[in-house]
Amino acid sequence: MNLAQASAAIARARACRAASPAARYDGAMLQVVWFKRDLRIHDHAPLALAAAAGPVLPIYLVEPTLWQQPDAAGRHWAFIRESLVELRAALAERGQPLVIRRGEAVAVFEALRQKRGAFALWSHEETGNDWSYRRDLAVGAWAREHGIHWTEIAQNGVIRRMRSRDGWARRWDQRMSADIVATPQRLLPVDVDAGPMAGEQLPWLADDPCPGRQRGGRSQAEAALHSFLTERGGRYHRELSSPLTAVESCSRLSPHLAFGTLSLREAAQAAALQLQRLDGLPPDEQATWKRALRAFIGRLHWHCHFIQKLETEPQLEFANTHRAYDGLRESEFDEARFTAWAEGRTGLPFVDACMRSLIATGWINFRMRAMLCAVSSYHLWLHWRRPALHLARCFSDYEPGIHYPQMQMQSGVTGINTIRIYNPVKQGLDQDPDGVFMRRWLPELAALPTALLHTPWKMDEAAQRSAGIVLGRDYPLPIVDPIEAARIARDRIWAVRKGLDFHRAADAIQERHGSRKAGLPPTTRPRRAPPATPQLGLDLGSDQAPLAAPYGAD
Ligand SMILES: Cc1cc2nc3c(=O)[nH]c(=O)nc-3n(C[C@H](O)[C@H](O)[C@H](O)COP(=O)(O)OP(=O)(O)OC[C@H]3O[C@@H](n4cnc5c(N)ncnc54)[C@H](O)[C@@H]3O)c2cc1C
Repeated sequence: MNLAQASAAIARARACRAASPAARYDGAMLQVVWFKRDLRIHDHAPLALAAAAGPVLPIYLVEPTLWQQPDAAGRHWAFIRESLVELRAALAERGQPLVIRRGEAVAVFEALRQKRGAFALWSHEETGNDWSYRRDLAVGAWAREHGIHWTEIAQNGVIRRMRSRDGWARRWDQRMSADIVATPQRLLPVDVDAGPMAGEQLPWLADDPCPGRQRGGRSQAEAALHSFLTERGGRYHRELSSPLTAVESCSRLSPHLAFGTLSLREAAQAAALQLQRLDGLPPDEQATWKRALRAFIGRLHWHCHFIQKLETEPQLEFANTHRAYDGLRESEFDEARFTAWAEGRTGLPFVDACMRSLIATGWINFRMRAMLCAVSSYHLWLHWRRPALHLARCFSDYEPGIHYPQMQMQSGVTGINTIRIYNPVKQGLDQDPDGVFMRRWLPELAALPTALLHTPWKMDEAAQRSAGIVLGRDYPLPIVDPIEAARIARDRIWAVRKGLDFHRAADAIQERHGSRKAGLPPTTRPRRAPPATPQLGLDLGSDQAPLAAPYGAD
């Protein structure tokens, strides 16, 4: 069901209620609202529809098997739990607190059915991981078997059972400009024990300290949105590429969008409104803010553009988009390289600083995510699947639908995107020229002069002595030569592109997943030959030109 249909249903239900207010909940069927990755009461169509139809039982399930999946992490749970505390309070204020149950979805719903009889089930559509996809299939089968009506409503621009990508952007615009769904003011309490708030630790999750993590909750989402649109965001398009500046200048809405403390439509409409309010600013400032906000709205498009890929093809969590890349890296997976990369001990300082920062804070900017992925996939020649799981556990904003297609794109296995082999030394020089970020996260290198910080392996023994460091003991020597490794990877990845069949399959992928936006840079079409100047030509990123097209990274 889309939002227009949902809004019409709400209006119908309201009209019925108005006609017989006294009897409105007498004997009415229980309306179960299943909160998943949508932990808010604002712009929440399932909640509004359910409230219009009868007494609401809002429920969150702590599903043991979900939390035992290899992509699950304590930082995700910590963010969710903080969001649940606020959600429970917000619902309680309206008359019915959030019910929390531990158990598998089918088992919990079946127990409820046996106790309370048939009910109506409401939720948002979820494009999650393979596990949640199969869980939803099981819930759907159970619901059909027992005559339970389960209404799932789209919550962003992702289209379920999409037949063609044609017209996708127009539909995104329509959904994002639809009215924000009104929050029900009052919920009649139902006679069900709300249960205790779930614990801070889940037994299935390893300890996951993340001292710099963003906190969860609607209040945090609103604060981040407000400060971005009115203060922090003015330099967004200029400052999103460096991890030093991006931390303040990017919106930092990603965990809120991923776990739904803010709806995408709320973010898009607030940004569009702010664009209209720039009139009083001096012309220069106005122009800068315009560029920034337009670039940001473009990113909100990307959010759904990427998730749509996984929605259309759930196998992308595991399988290369272009199957010609199958077998290219799998048999060469080097555990020692993987561990060094995952722990920030590759001996490539900018890479290690990014990884250690990510582990400690749960967030890093897009360009650095792309570089971390490129280094694992090209320089270290690791198949993307295990690095993807590691990063999923590190990201407090883990969103499967963005994550796996991005991992594939940055690993060069989609067949339709430009190959970007980021040069980690050049990235360090460009994005952290004075070494401020590296010194912060690599204290063992803090005393090095900046000229040596980017390439410490170039120090001879005398230089090491005078800097008070022994390479190989205090900080690793690089596990690969970044220039040579990139060259070999480039040749191997481009070799796959030869041959007619490759391009035929790539055309089909483009048809299935590619953007239809006119005027795109040639990133969506495979180039026929590798760039001639490897270290510059291979170090392509999209963030330098955020306004080039709404899907510039794709
Ligand atoms: C390998 C890799 C894995 C990634 N995995 C995730 C993930 O699990 N979850 C996640 O939210 N983002 C992911 N991204 C995309 C992007 O890096 C983050 O969305 C962004 O850094 C989050 O910070 P922000 O909210 O401040 O972003 P902003 O720049 O302020 O953008 C606002 C929102 O737009 C969306 N967005 C921004 N950039 C992209 C992009 N390149 N592709 C798709 N959507 C985008 C996000 O929802 C983001 O919150 C990944 C990128 C790469 C290269």
